[in-house]
Amino acid sequence: MSSTSREWIRQPIIVVMGHVDHGKTTLLDKIRGTAVARKEPGEITQHVGASIVPASVLKKIAEPLRKYFPKLQIEIPGLLFIDTPGHELFANLRKRGGSVADMAILVVDVMEGFQPQTVEAINILKEKKVPFVVAANKIDRIEGWKPTPDAPFLETIRNQSQRTINILEEKIYRIAGELYNHGFEAERFDRVRDFRRTVAIIPISAKTGEGVSELLALMTGLVQQFMKKKLVTSSEPAKGVVLEVKEEPGLGTTIDVIIYEGVLKKNDLFIIAGKSKPVVTRVRALLMPRPLQDMRMHEGRFTQVEEVYAATGVKVSAPDLDDALAGSPFYVIPDETRLQDYLKMVSEEVSELRFKVESDGVVIKADTLGSLEALLEAMRREKIPVRLADVGNVSRNDVIEASVVKKSKPEYGVILAFNVKLLPEAEELAAREGVKVFQSNIIYHIIEEYAKWVKELREKEVEKEVSSLVRPAKIRILPGFIFRRSDPAIVGIEVLGGVLRPGCNVMRSDGMELGMVVQIRDRDNVLKEARAGQQVAISIKGRIMVGRHVDEGDILYTSIPKEHVTMWLTKHRDKLSTDEYLVLKEIIEIKKKQDPFYGFTA
Ligand code: GDP
Repeated sequence: MSSTSREWIRQPIIVVMGHVDHGKTTLLDKIRGTAVARKEPGEITQHVGASIVPASVLKKIAEPLRKYFPKLQIEIPGLLFIDTPGHELFANLRKRGGSVADMAILVVDVMEGFQPQTVEAINILKEKKVPFVVAANKIDRIEGWKPTPDAPFLETIRNQSQRTINILEEKIYRIAGELYNHGFEAERFDRVRDFRRTVAIIPISAKTGEGVSELLALMTGLVQQFMKKKLVTSSEPAKGVVLEVKEEPGLGTTIDVIIYEGVLKKNDLFIIAGKSKPVVTRVRALLMPRPLQDMRMHEGRFTQVEEVYAATGVKVSAPDLDDALAGSPFYVIPDETRLQDYLKMVSEEVSELRFKVESDGVVIKADTLGSLEALLEAMRREKIPVRLADVGNVSRNDVIEASVVKKSKPEYGVILAFNVKLLPEAEELAAREGVKVFQSNIIYHIIEEYAKWVKELREKEVEKEVSSLVRPAKIRILPGFIFRRSDPAIVGIEVLGGVLRPGCNVMRSDGMELGMVVQIRDRDNVLKEARAGQQVAISIKGRIMVGRHVDEGDILYTSIPKEHVTMWLTKHRDKLSTDEYLVLKEIIEIKKKQDPFYGFTA
């Protein structure tokens, strides 16, 4: 290939997502196996961090499908699959306002249906506006399935019993229902009329290979029909994204880059984001995996090339990469006079993700720019405000930030850390300040744990608030149990309704205040409370004289402050039993005579 100005259609970049154990790795292995076994001699299928299914393979695969897809012509040079499945690497395929991935395969275990990471994947794909198809995997596990290895689905389905077909239909129907709940119309691929409006579900078995050819053919068709324009690129300076930063023996720190536009050459000047500041350096070597058959004992795993073209995955060796950040944009700088523009562009892009604001919110830390962005987006989805977002291990400074927030907003005074370490001095300070650190290498675990903790915190707060409120109680002075007439008065009572606790004031049924209940006793035992039906002795301190203000057989009520009544009625109604609520209504009727707004809630 020559690099004088020209245009070409590049391979679409495809990612595989889905819940753990649903078969992502197995599917990628199957696809790679197919690509390697069926390629033409000399075709390179193995790239760095990615594999290509070349056009020649797509043609061979599509051949037996001709009767189902009569119009399928292969116009793209192939499909580029990112080798490592899952959300974390996907996160590093970031590009301002979207993703470098052109399309995704969402793998769903047909036996298990949707699982938490399936939902997470859908949310991410929606946010990044990446179109996807669903591979309903493991159809070979359906009861009675008779496998035909590597056969197209539409052929193998004809060998199944009606009962097995029915089970499969039911499972696909369920997956379509789940997709519908997330805002997508979905259908088995052969019944889809408009692929722009309906998500195609392709039943496959990554293990037996059934349906995999249709999956590849369908994606090829979709890409050619709907995104050919987007795939046009030219021999301009390369644009890419840093997928991973890796130490390589003999090479030092290298970056694995996915190039989605243009050409990258040896000695090109390029810019990426670094941990402390943007890194500007020159390509020392471009490395591609050495084909298996060419491996020699004394040669490394990589072979050098002079230039690479989009779309590709390539390892870049260059000076000063120690600071490199995965998930960072990668731009070739066409000429040095434009360096400032590029510095500005990269800095701006990075500061959208790494920031500190002076408002209350959580502290988030992540290992790469991509995972930081994914975590930020999860925060946005869950409506959790963020005070500080940064890459790197959790430091003492992060704990200080969180502890400041903790004082005014305890629920946000925390650190959410994805795939990073808690430095020892930070751990010590966090323990001392009581700052919680939520750590995991799965984003939804972090969010789940944090949500659980917030819920407990709120419950504790509610409990505290409720326990500070005077509860409704209705009591009767028992005849023959006047132990002391005043100062304090001590009488035997029966609780008729509600809960009586020491420390609350009591009143007569006409609203006259009598004083505070100091102690509740059952013979020698001091009680914390007395409930409906209990007979106990209570002491009342106040201007009360038994015989003058109250007498045997009188009914008394707790005198509930007006603000407490409002709290009961508006915030904590569910914390009152029916019995307490009925007593509360009686108390309101009594109090209203003196204060018409008592118990009034707008
Ligand atoms: P990942 O976590 O999504 O990458 O899942 P894996 O590819 O590691 O698969 C998880 C397990 O499911 C492994 O034991 C696979 O052998 C098995 N598996 C994957 N695909 C299929 C399939 O189509 N049929 C059956 N029966 N097992 C499968």
